[in-house]
Parts: sequence; C-alpha cells; structure tokens
Amino acid sequence: MSDFIAKTDQNTLARSLFRGWRRRCPKCGSGPAIMPFLTVRSPCSVCGEPLSIRRYGLFPVLFTLLLVAPIMGLAIYVLHYKLRPDALTLFSILAVGCVALTLYLLPRMKGAVLAFEWRQENAMNASDPGSKGHGQNGNSRRGDSDCAERQSD
Ligand SMILES: [Zn+2]
Repeated sequence: MSDFIAKTDQNTLARSLFRGWRRRCPKCGSGPAIMPFLTVRSPCSVCGEPLSIRRYGLFPVLFTLLLVAPIMGLAIYVLHYKLRPDALTLFSILAVGCVALTLYLLPRMKGAVLAFEWRQENAMNASDPGSKGHGQNGNSRRGDSDCAERQSD
C-alpha cells in the first residue's frame, strides 16, 4: 500500500514538474504560471492557486547554467576540432547559441522549480494539518516562522 502511495506521489511530482517545464500551473496544468518571460503569475488565472518561488529563487539560474555550460563545451569541441571555422564565425555561433539556449531554458527551469516548490509546500501542508496552507497573503506557518527568524536576526 505504501509503495502504491509513493508511486502515485512520484507520478504526481513528475506531472507537476512537466507542467512547470511547460510554464503552466503545477496544480491544474492549464493556467500560465510563468508569463510573459520570467514573471510568476500568482494566483493562477484558471484555478486560483497561489504560486510563488520563495526558497529556491536562484535554482533556475543554477540549473540553466549547469545545462548550458556542458552543451556549449561540447559545441566548442565539435566546432573547433571537427569543423574548424574561422575565429569570428566560431565566436558568433557560440555567442548566439549560448544566449538562445539560455533564453529558452531559463523560463522552463523557473517553471520546473516553481512546480517543485509548490509540490513541497503542499506536501508540508498535508503532513501538518494544523497549518492553514500557503494562502495568497503568505500567512503560512512557514512564512510566519521565517519572519520571526528574520526579525530576531
Ligand atoms: Zn492553476
């Protein structure tokens, strides 16, 4: 039984991540979550789910860099050692490729991180029934404790 629950949970996480990758709301999958480019639209225009990235704000950039760097490294190897274009052509191809790949991946990574954080918040709220959830005004238990920690610093 617990395996079934874990399997169902993983499927839901994968589905949420896929919806986030498509820049859609991780809950309903149809409302735009990351529009027009990197702005998180909260609440969702279809289901009204409040969406935000609070804890993992730098992770979309990190994951984008972790993908773009090896792809560009492979492109440098192939272009420089196999095709041998002149320096200006090589630079132009790499610069345009790097910028285009970053602009393509960054909003999708942000959507996936948003979905992951949304999923984690829901799991925490489900395991803590006394919590009010993370509402639109951010009055979740976690948010309150964060404020208390920040004020004590
Ligand atoms: Zn939605």
